[in-house]
Amino acid sequence: MTVLRILFWFAIAAAAMLGAVWLAERPGSVTAEWHGWRLDTSVGVLLIAIVVLILLAVALWLLYRWTVGAPGALLEGWGEGRRRRGYRALTQGLAAVAAGDAGEAQKNARQAEKLLSEPPLTMLLSAQAAQLAGDRDGARRAFNAMLEDEQMAFLGLRGLITQSLRDGDQAQALSYAERAFELRPQTPWVVHSLFDMQAQVGQWKAAQETLEQGLRRKVITQDKGRTLKALLLVERSRAAERDGNAIDALTLAREASTLAPERIAVTERLAELQIKAGDGRRAMRTLERGWALAPHPDLVPLYLKASGESDPLKRVGIVRRLADHKPDDLESHLALAQVALDAGLWGEARRHLDAAGGTSPPVRVCRLMAEVEERAHSDQAKVHEWLARAATAPADRAWRCAACGAHHESWRSVCESCGAFGTLHWRAPGTYGHILPPETQAAPALQGPMSS
Ligand SMILES: [Zn+2]
Repeated sequence: MTVLRILFWFAIAAAAMLGAVWLAERPGSVTAEWHGWRLDTSVGVLLIAIVVLILLAVALWLLYRWTVGAPGALLEGWGEGRRRRGYRALTQGLAAVAAGDAGEAQKNARQAEKLLSEPPLTMLLSAQAAQLAGDRDGARRAFNAMLEDEQMAFLGLRGLITQSLRDGDQAQALSYAERAFELRPQTPWVVHSLFDMQAQVGQWKAAQETLEQGLRRKVITQDKGRTLKALLLVERSRAAERDGNAIDALTLAREASTLAPERIAVTERLAELQIKAGDGRRAMRTLERGWALAPHPDLVPLYLKASGESDPLKRVGIVRRLADHKPDDLESHLALAQVALDAGLWGEARRHLDAAGGTSPPVRVCRLMAEVEERAHSDQAKVHEWLARAATAPADRAWRCAACGAHHESWRSVCESCGAFGTLHWRAPGTYGHILPPETQAAPALQGPMSS
C-alpha cells in the first residue's frame, strides 16, 4: 500500500516538474487591464496562481463542512451508542428476569432507564426486576408509573393486581381488577380474576354481572356459565335467607335447581328450603332427582327429615326409595348400610357394605364393617382387622378442589386454598371429571382457575 502511494506521489511530482520545465521552455506573457489596473505576468505564474486559488477554495469548503457539520455528526454517533447500550441493558435485564437473577435484572433496569428515553419499556423491566428482588415498593412505583401510559396501563394493572394479592390486600386487588375489566372486558384472565375476587368477598350480584358479561363476550362457555350461575344463586339464596327473606331465598334456589340440578349444593339448598316451607313431598322429589344425578351422604338426612318418619325400620324403606334412583352407586349402598345398621339389621348392612366395597373397600366401608362386627357380634378380632384395613384403604370420596386439589370438610362455593369459585366436587382423589367431565376444564387465571 505504502509503496503504491509513494510511487503515486512520485508520478505527480514528476508530472509537475515536467509541466514546469515545459512552461519554462515556452515563455509567453499575459497582460490584463481592468479599470486602470494593469497586470503583466508570464503564463506559468498565472497557471500556478489559478491552481493555488482552486486548492484554497477546496480547503475553505472542507473547513466549513468540518466546523458546521462535525459536532452534530459527533453527537449523533454518541447518541446512537447510548441507545445501543440502553437496548443491550434492556435485553440483558429481561433475560435476567426470565432467568430469575434479581441482582442482574435490577442493575440492567437502572442502566436501561438511564440510557433510554422510552419509559414504557424500561418501566416494565424495572417493575419486574423489583418484583423479583422482593422490592414491593419499587415494583408498585413502577407499575403505578405504567398506569400513566395509555399502552402500558393494562399491563401495569395486571402487575398491581398480582402485587396486591401477594400482599393479601384483596380489596385493593379487586379495585384494580375492576379498572382492568373496564379497559379490556374481553380479556379472559381479567374476567376470571374479577369474577373470583368478587366471589371471594361475597359480592354475589356483582360476580353474576361479570359472569353474564363474560358469557356475552364468549370468554366463558355456556355450560360453565350455567353451573357457575347456579352456584352464585345458591349463595344469593343463603344471603336472602339470612336477611329474613324466605320467599326470595326459595325463588333463587329454584332457579339454581333449574340451571344445574346435577350440583349437590344446589339440590341441598332447594330441599332445605322446601322442608322449611313445610313442603316435605316436594323436597323428597328434589332430593330423588338430585340423587339420580349426583348422590351424596348429606342428602340422606334431609330425605329422612322430609319424610317425617322416625321409626328405624320404616326409615330403611324410606332410604331404599331414595337409593333406588341410583341403586349401584357406592353412596346408595353406604346410605342403606348405615340406615340398616341403625335399625339393627346386621345382615342387610353387611350385604350393602360388601356390595359397596368390592375387592378394595375404601375407608368408610372398612369403618362401617368394624361397626357392624362390634354391634352385631362384639367380635373384637374382626373389629381390629377392619380398622387396620381402614388405615391402608383407598381414600374416600371427599370435597376436593378441581383447581388445586385441596380437601375440604364441607362444600363451599369458594375454595379456601386457591380462592377459585365453584371448583369443589365430591370425588375420590385422582378421579377428575368422571362425574361431570366438562367442568374440570379449568381456565387459567391469576388467582386460580375458575372452573365450575
Ligand atoms: Zn382450590
